[in-house]
Amino acid sequence: TEQYDLIIVGGGPIGLACAIEAQKKNLSYLIIEKGAIVNSIFNYPLYMTFFSTAERLEIGGIPFNCLPPKPGRQEALEYYRNIHRYFNFSIHLFERVTEIIKEGVESFKVSTDKKVYQSKNVIIATGFYDIPIKMEVKGEELPKVRHYYKEAHEYAFRNILVVGANNSSVDAALECWRKGANVTMVIRKNEINNRVKYWAKPDIENRISEGSIKACFESNITEIKENTVEIETPNGKVTIENDFVLALTGYKPDLAFLRNAGIQLSEDALKTPTYNPETMETNVKGLFLAGVVCGGMHTHKWFIENSRVHANLIIDSITAK
Ligand code: FAD
Repeated sequence: TEQYDLIIVGGGPIGLACAIEAQKKNLSYLIIEKGAIVNSIFNYPLYMTFFSTAERLEIGGIPFNCLPPKPGRQEALEYYRNIHRYFNFSIHLFERVTEIIKEGVESFKVSTDKKVYQSKNVIIATGFYDIPIKMEVKGEELPKVRHYYKEAHEYAFRNILVVGANNSSVDAALECWRKGANVTMVIRKNEINNRVKYWAKPDIENRISEGSIKACFESNITEIKENTVEIETPNGKVTIENDFVLALTGYKPDLAFLRNAGIQLSEDALKTPTYNPETMETNVKGLFLAGVVCGGMHTHKWFIENSRVHANLIIDSITAK
């Protein structure tokens, strides 16, 4: 079996940031990524705009050249591909880590769908974008219900329902409406979320108040059928015509994967993993967490600009040993 000082699970921006620091310190390391490089960004909506400005997405001190202040998905993919061209990472793409087992004092057995590796240290930087949070309503398994949104074209001239009032839902609702979809939003609370990007919030609120986009506040879907959806509203149950449901109700980290690796999660609804914030080491010695996965169900706590420092904390802690 191949042996490393460090295996990094996940080739997102933060996994790559960890690899840069490991490389600087001459550690033998391997990144294992189950999809393409920066796979979460690859799966973002095609025309999304980051809320972060370009320099806040930078890693390894490499400038992110970008003309508009906020990059989009394409620019970010270009940037992180160039990061790999520059650093020439030791990375395996399209290989999924299935199990991390601690063996002895200073060794982990890391199994993937292809191989088994041995490593002294492991960083889990797996993000949160692979498991959608389900609504748990009847009809959710119908093919017209989507938990990821790509682009508007297929929804043009159709009746679509967008669930949620966060950035993903608001972006999708506005984009689809502008491309000719008849859009209704179903929103659990009585307002658009305050985290919505400052330029999108007035846009969606104005579209709703002028009636271009319909919104059912304090409402929930109760059942999805082939051509209709039933919604529980403060004024009782309504049934509306429907062709597609965009259930953009959030995503969650693979908590079972963390638990199976021996990481303790908090008992409350947040399921916060246990780690030392100064070193990012978990309750399992030699096993570290980095990036958005650290927040557990609190998926808005960490993002690129405030978690890229995890890379330094971890590599400093490993090299100090
Ligand atoms: P990720 O980028 O999610 O990377 C995790 C990687 O691990 C993925 O590539 C995944 O394929 C891989 N992986 C998972 N499980 C395994 C496994 N078992 N084996 C191998 N590989 C695995 N953040 C910002 O800072 N600014 C923004 O403007 C911003 N906009 C966003 C817009 C959208 C639509 C979304 C969904 C998120 C946005 N975020 C933004 C949050 C953003 O996704 C994260 O900040 C960033 O991607 C986190 O990086 P990460 O490396 O921690 O996780």
